[in-house]
Amino acid sequence: MNTSLSKKTETLFQQQILDWFQAKGRKHLPWQQDKTPYRVWISEIMLQQTQVKTVIPYYEKFMESFPTISALANATEDYVLHHWTGLGYYARARNLHKAAQIIAADFDGQFPTDIEQVIALPGIGRSTAGAILSLSLKQHHAILDGNVKRVLSRAFLISGYNGQAKYEKALWPVAEQLTPVKGVQHYNQAMMDIGATICTRTKPLCEQCPVQDICLAYQTDNQSNYPQKKPKKEIPVKSVTYVIPRHNNHILMKKRPPTGIWGGLWGFEELTASDNVKSAMKQLGLSLKATRSLEGFRHTFSHFHLDITAILVDVEHTKEHQINESFEQRWYDLAQPNNVGLAASSVKLIQQIQQQETS
Ligand code: SF4
Repeated sequence: MNTSLSKKTETLFQQQILDWFQAKGRKHLPWQQDKTPYRVWISEIMLQQTQVKTVIPYYEKFMESFPTISALANATEDYVLHHWTGLGYYARARNLHKAAQIIAADFDGQFPTDIEQVIALPGIGRSTAGAILSLSLKQHHAILDGNVKRVLSRAFLISGYNGQAKYEKALWPVAEQLTPVKGVQHYNQAMMDIGATICTRTKPLCEQCPVQDICLAYQTDNQSNYPQKKPKKEIPVKSVTYVIPRHNNHILMKKRPPTGIWGGLWGFEELTASDNVKSAMKQLGLSLKATRSLEGFRHTFSHFHLDITAILVDVEHTKEHQINESFEQRWYDLAQPNNVGLAASSVKLIQQIQQQETS
């Protein structure tokens, strides 16, 4: 589908978005102060997965610990992931870390300003690169994140769903045609904000929308059909049982392999089909005193459900074997948590253990 807009629509749309930004746009978010490509980059990656109000405390803590690209490049991956614990999508944090190391090595620690060089960094796509360079340096680039896609899809009845190639192909030329040279940073910010707060997925607040008089979905009462919902695929269910040795208010944790689910984050020993708890403890050089089942739960990934059960095992060290803390294994102090990145399942299980202790 080729949606070409008239010059009149283009100018009117831009003007209404820019006027809305002046009147109502957010201008005091932490990443809108002292704008640099680095500060905007971090905010854009965090905002890909969660809302502004949740991101703010994570962002502030991150910038305090990693005020510069070189501070981020020189940090350990564990310490970076620790700052991401709770935000999810840990591959994004690992990519930030890798990209910072590339910028330190290849660009003398200065964020590149050429869009092709920015897109070549791990974890940065065309829209994110456009957002970073337009918001921080006023370079003329269109953006097309999920929120902007929704606004354009409805305003001009462009059908498709997120992740569908033909939908993106139809939207990019529209986004490019509408993005003004003058005020590009305000326009892009406003489009993201309108998508996030007004043109919401369900029940859009069309009465507050600055482009209501242009929007074809509004005029035809068709908002709920744009964009379309992604066809649902049945996803398989897998299961896992974790064993969690506990000794003197410390639990034994294990670093997950660098790739795969929760890669590089800290989790627990898995009980295999051929193992029982006692033999698993023996292999670890621990002797079992008592066991307690924790409450099971389901964690859903994009491609499968994982049903998680866990057994808390009070243990003693045997005389012959002591657990040597290493890069891969450590006793996690429940009273004074370590600065490490935790898998989402670990966060929930640790909370359960702590609640049991206090109840
Ligand atoms: S009028 Fe409604 S549906 Fe159209 S862009 Fe605005 S909020 Fe979205």
